Amino acid sequence: MRVGTVREIKNHEYRVGLTPESACELVAHGHEVWVEKSAGLGIGAADSAYAAAGARIIDTAAEVFAGCEMIVKVKEPQAVERAMLREGQILYTYLHLAPDPEQTADLVKSGVTAIAYETVTGPGNSLPLLKPMSQVAGRMSVQAGATALEKAHGGRGVLLGGVPGVMPGKVAVIGGGVVGFNAAQMAVGLGADVTILDRNPDVLERLGIYFEARAKTRFSSTANLAETIAEADLVIGAVLIPGAAAPKLVTRDMLSTMKTGAVLVDVAIDQGGCFETSHPTTHDDPTFTVDGIVHYCVANMPGAVARTSTYALNNVTLPHALAIANLGWKQALADDPHLANGLNVHAGQITYEAVASELGYDY
Ligand code: NAD
Repeated sequence: MRVGTVREIKNHEYRVGLTPESACELVAHGHEVWVEKSAGLGIGAADSAYAAAGARIIDTAAEVFAGCEMIVKVKEPQAVERAMLREGQILYTYLHLAPDPEQTADLVKSGVTAIAYETVTGPGNSLPLLKPMSQVAGRMSVQAGATALEKAHGGRGVLLGGVPGVMPGKVAVIGGGVVGFNAAQMAVGLGADVTILDRNPDVLERLGIYFEARAKTRFSSTANLAETIAEADLVIGAVLIPGAAAPKLVTRDMLSTMKTGAVLVDVAIDQGGCFETSHPTTHDDPTFTVDGIVHYCVANMPGAVARTSTYALNNVTLPHALAIANLGWKQALADDPHLANGLNVHAGQITYEAVASELGYDY
């Protein structure tokens, strides 16, 4: 199969669909790989690295779209890219169609076969192609929070690890799922005093077994939450209620109970945020202050570490890309029901029930 990847054109998107190593793997399986010129520059992968991997460097995205049977991307195709998709072509990328009627209509019209990373499942209802981005965001949240705690960034001037003779900073992680676990790992690694709150007893038990005495776990009742955040230097919001907006767990009134210059990092901002005072920010201007509390609410945190994020993403997307290229999409999806759950659009039909019902398409 001829597989192509293009330079991402969404604002501030530096990741790329295929790393040179992934291109090499596809080539080793007998496939042809076309890479748009400069596609990997955002992750420091030069055209020469792709060429050395056996890929062909192509001048324009238009030629890649026109010539390839499968396009592997990161972000949903933008309007100019959608205009280049064609019937029978396979599109394998993040799509997030439910809140995006324009994109959905264009994909339906194009006749493309679109497989969305975010709906490919794994054992136990997991979403393995979303997980690496939660891991990245969780780990980054502590880095972002530690920076925001510095005086020059509006914070209260606390070093999370402390130093010998000075107490470490206190970190509260609300939600102990993928983001929260990774945040806690980083905070513990820095030597901070870490408390993780969750409402799921199984999650609390798993965290307790993993961290032992290195982090505390606490049931996320309103009273426990209020007490924990009042003492915290850094609070990380990492809750998720599947299919729903994030609950507003920290209200504006509660900010007055916190220490001036404490930091809130709202990782759940992509689901509306779990702090009442949050609003989405960008990497260019990531923080703002409300009632003396610094807020960091960047909705696409993994974009800032595009290289790590691209490699983490390729680790989970490449096996499916290889299966599709080796077997053809029909056989690959027939062999793997988890990959089949990724099929969102095929031949002018919406093939994913939640998207069809949200946007009023037949299913
Ligand atoms: P997850 O499902 O693995 O974990 C969510 C956890 O929240 C679960 O353990 C759940 O029990 C817990 N929870 C639910 N209600 C709670 C409450 N009231 N109090 C305490 N805990 C509660 O989800 P995840 O992958 O860790 O994602 C967390 C959030 O981070 C999601 O909103 C996700 O979209 C977001 N996210 C944001 C970025 C970003 O760049 N900002 C990147 C990746 C993920």
